[in-house]
Amino acid sequence: PSKPDKAQLQEVIDCARATYINLDEGENASYIPFLARVPRYLCGLSIATLDGDIISAGDTDYRFAIESISKVATLALALEDVGPDAVQKKVGADPTGLPFNSVMALELHNGKPLSPLVNAGAISTVSLVEAADREERWARILLMQRKLTGGDIVLSSEVNGSEQTTNFHNRAISWLLYSAEALYCDPMEACDIYTRQCSTLVDTRDLAVMAATLAGGGVNPLTGEQVLSADRTSPKVLAEMMMEGLYTSSGDWAYSVGLPGKSGVGGGVLAVVPGIMGIAAFSPPLDDAGNSVRGQKMIGKVASALDYNLFSTR
Ligand code: GLU
Repeated sequence: PSKPDKAQLQEVIDCARATYINLDEGENASYIPFLARVPRYLCGLSIATLDGDIISAGDTDYRFAIESISKVATLALALEDVGPDAVQKKVGADPTGLPFNSVMALELHNGKPLSPLVNAGAISTVSLVEAADREERWARILLMQRKLTGGDIVLSSEVNGSEQTTNFHNRAISWLLYSAEALYCDPMEACDIYTRQCSTLVDTRDLAVMAATLAGGGVNPLTGEQVLSADRTSPKVLAEMMMEGLYTSSGDWAYSVGLPGKSGVGGGVLAVVPGIMGIAAFSPPLDDAGNSVRGQKMIGKVASALDYNLFSTR
């Protein structure tokens, strides 16, 4: 497809947002009060191009919990630290076909988590990050979130406090991983840092820039920094996103949108158009799989309006 200018992109995202703003389906995540309280009508959509332009519509400055989208940043860091072969061998690159917090995949595959984008694999990925101690592990993961987004990402003590006092299931996953020798640091350290990485606040523009950084082979288009080694890390991250980025509806997403994506239960979704742009959306109500209802629809509409689909030859 030909390269659209800024005015055309603005028109496309305004139209996508207007089409779905009144789609009032789904429910906010409710397992912690913070997520349940975010107004359900909020709806933002942003594009970040590889030229560094950011085009936005709606509530794109509203800061919400990154949640599962943090798994993308930590995966990128682990790939940089230990390389793609070690990540594939120790965590995996296959979809589980199971809910994000499932322990079943561990049972079925001798303790191997399969994907770094579901909880078991994500906790294992945290443990692969090179660090001398817990605080260094956290500092490096937070810094990667900042570098990929170009934003001043901070931990929400409110989200983190709630998550840390309710994360019994993730603690159990951590011990199961440890017993299967698929965890490479102290299990409660891995669980603590995983929980913190989910508890940072981002806005839709941050996520669009993160997606654009991956689209550009690891160069952040806002800051100009080469965040990830060229052509080594981002193709691997995108492959994992294609396989398991939208929980149990990753296949439906590939079928209908055809772009690598990642969602989080905070209502954020991002998608990557390799070599061209990042697209991100935010709206809190989620479908049964845990994906933002409006977010998925809006990104799908933008992608089809611009003829972006990895599997299309146009
Ligand atoms: N903090 C959440 C958990 O691990 C993240 C959920 C998500 O966005 O998938 O349970």
